[in-house]
Order: sequence, then C-alpha cells, then structure tokens
Amino acid sequence: MRDTIRRFEERVIAGDLLGYQEGCQLATIGEDSPDLLDLISSANRVRLHFKGNRVDTCSIVNAKSGSCSEDCSFCAQSAHHAAGAQSYPLLDGDAIARAADEAFDAGAEAFGLVAAWKGLREGPELETLLDRIRELVAKNKGHVDGSLGHVPSESIAHRLKEAGVHTYNHNLETAPSHFGNICTTHTFQDRVETIRRLQAAGIRICSGGIFGMGENWEQRVELAVHLRELKVDVLPMNFLNPIAGTPLEHVAPLTPRECLKTIALYRMLLPTANLMVAGGREVNLRDLQSWAFHAGANACMVGNYLTTPGRSAGEDRRMLTDLGLTSSMGEPAPLVATAPSPLRMIAAGA
Ligand code: SF4
Repeated sequence: MRDTIRRFEERVIAGDLLGYQEGCQLATIGEDSPDLLDLISSANRVRLHFKGNRVDTCSIVNAKSGSCSEDCSFCAQSAHHAAGAQSYPLLDGDAIARAADEAFDAGAEAFGLVAAWKGLREGPELETLLDRIRELVAKNKGHVDGSLGHVPSESIAHRLKEAGVHTYNHNLETAPSHFGNICTTHTFQDRVETIRRLQAAGIRICSGGIFGMGENWEQRVELAVHLRELKVDVLPMNFLNPIAGTPLEHVAPLTPRECLKTIALYRMLLPTANLMVAGGREVNLRDLQSWAFHAGANACMVGNYLTTPGRSAGEDRRMLTDLGLTSSMGEPAPLVATAPSPLRMIAAGA
C-alpha cells in the first residue's frame, strides 16, 4: 500500500484528481496499520503544496436555538428529539454584536450567524436577520457568514449577498445513500439546491459533513466526491459527539485515528479545498487534535460550538504556533511557570 499512497500523492500534486475507486482503495487502510502514517504524511505534503502553512479560523454564534421542525438525528436542537437543548428566538442586535466582538477580538477571521430552523422565508424575521447582518458588516471587523438553513429562492440568496454575507454554511451532512437514515423531513437534493442558489448569487459555500453517524467508508468517499463536484470553498469536517436524547446517542464515537484517516482521505480527494476541523475536535480527536493539521486540515473552528463548548482561544493559539502554522489568531501569551501550591505538592507526594 505504501507505493500506492506515494503514487497517488505524486499524481495529486501534479494536478490529477483521484476517483471514487481510488478513494475507496485508500479507505481500506486500517487504523492500526503503519500505512496510516504514510497516508497522513502524504496528505500533509499535499496540504503544504496547495495550501501552504496557513490555517484559516472562524467562529459562530447560535443566534436562534432549538425547537427546529427538522428531524436530523444527530441534532440536539430538533423538536423531534428530547435532548433538552436551550430554545430561544433570534438574539437581539446587542447580543449578536457582543458575540461577534468576542470572536474577532480572539482572532477569528470570520463570524457566522447560525439559526436552528428549516430555513429562510420572506417576512419580518428575514428583514430582522438582514438588519443584523448589515450591522455586523458595517463594523468591518471581519467576514460575516451565515448558516441559516434552506434558501428557497434566488431572490433570498441575492438579498443575503446584498446584505454582505461572505460565506454561507450548508452542510450536505452525509452521503446521499445514507441521508435518508439521518433525516426524513428534507432531502439531500434540497440541500444541493440551496447551495446552487447561493452560488448563483455569488456567495462562497461552506459545506461538509458529520462523520461517525453509521456511514461506511465508501459513503465517506461518496460524500467527498459530491462536495468536490459542488466546488465548495470551505469543507467543515465534524465528528459526531453523540448527544443524549438524540437518536444517535448510543452510536460509538469515532476514534482519534479514524478521524485522522478521514481528514487525510479528504485531503487526497479534495487537494485544494479548505478542510476545516469543526465540531467534535476536542471530544473525538482528544490528545491527537493537533495532528489534524498534519493530516491535511488547513482551517479550524474556534470558540464554542452550537450546543457544546470548545477550547479557549489561548489554547488554540498555542497549538497552532507550536505546530509552526500561521493564522489570524496571532502569537500566544508567553509561558510563565508558577510554583505549585503546597497542597498540590502534598497530593503529589512531595
Ligand atoms: S435543520 Fe439544522 S437545526 Fe434543524 S434539526 Fe437539522 S441540523 Fe438541527
């Protein structure tokens, strides 16, 4: 397998794209096999070749939480599940502005407004939302993004563009052959159509998936190929953090090495995409989360997620600097050692 991986790497760096079968071939590498480190090394060289040493960062706020009409089985915010996620209407302008200030001050390049609902429609709520977006754009602190669900018409897509939305997140979530097992209230094709409308309006697309929802490796390759065909600009890679009360609560989480293999596989299949490590980074990758970048990722979400907390900006800043990567987050604070307290020394047997 080592020679195959190396051959694929050379082809990808020369500008060739691997096909579905070749992706499936790489996906047969076992998580316990030494070949996994070869795949990770190849993916790292592909990342360096196409993306350099820079990591893009973004942060989000859950601007409208819970009580969503859709039944996505991974989601704590669906009204169909009893996950107990907070439910509140669209935040007021001050609350959104404070969250944006916090994100930009921590060094994020982009700030995304996320809403838990089926999607956008004409009416007063859309007008309020567009006002919120315009207010953030006028502050000119960084990119203002949206993750606001289904976009039913080209005119709404154009209004988002006019308000200043830079990038719109709308994940495909999983392969079309698995989508019906994850959601029954809308279809994979509905999601593709929203993406096409936004692209036609000139909005950049952030679209990826959630891994570890019972899909097999072929389905992970299938999703990668669809995302490549859609020419998404940013591809968030989320790893399921099973939440109690959702239908997926008992699914075994992916191991750190499965996550790294998925990232490396996606870098080999999507050499020029911005692969963003997103939800589940801390829970699923654990001590190996810094490896995500050397497995091919070149972007990460910082701050909190929608219904679960993330790491501090200081920890992420330190991690990226220690890896020799550059980002908008700047340099970490100097490390200052402090003497352990006498109580801790006693506990440690000193
Ligand atoms: S549409 Fe979004 S908020 Fe609603 S259930 Fe699905 S993932 Fe959750």
